[in-house]
Amino acid sequence: MGDIGDRRVHVVLPDGHVLDGQLQARRRDPDGRWWYGVTVELPAKAVEPVPGKDYSQVPTTVQEHWPWLIQAPAAPGEAPVLHVGDCAAATGRLEPVQHAELARGALVDSWATVCDVCRPAP
Ligand SMILES: [Zn+2]
Repeated sequence: MGDIGDRRVHVVLPDGHVLDGQLQARRRDPDGRWWYGVTVELPAKAVEPVPGKDYSQVPTTVQEHWPWLIQAPAAPGEAPVLHVGDCAAATGRLEPVQHAELARGALVDSWATVCDVCRPAP
């Protein structure tokens, strides 16, 4: 889906789940209600094709690396370490991070530390 910039929104589903989305357009109807056109990224298993439709021209990306990784602490008392996705120093238990905002959030209040090798700056 590409970079989610400053039009990122949270989409709250009727069951309470919250998805990241990107605001594409908004419309006010004649009764004064607002409607938002939002793109959301979902796992493929959650999307069903419409029979007879051709999706061969849909832009497709094969992602080789997660943008960022959070490495679990090596020992009790140590902080998690934030890496760029292809950092050779990332080892152990790794949690992928897709969005820059989440990677920045890991650094807030020194919850995680920055890898000395790759020096990520989300
Ligand atoms: Zn690193």
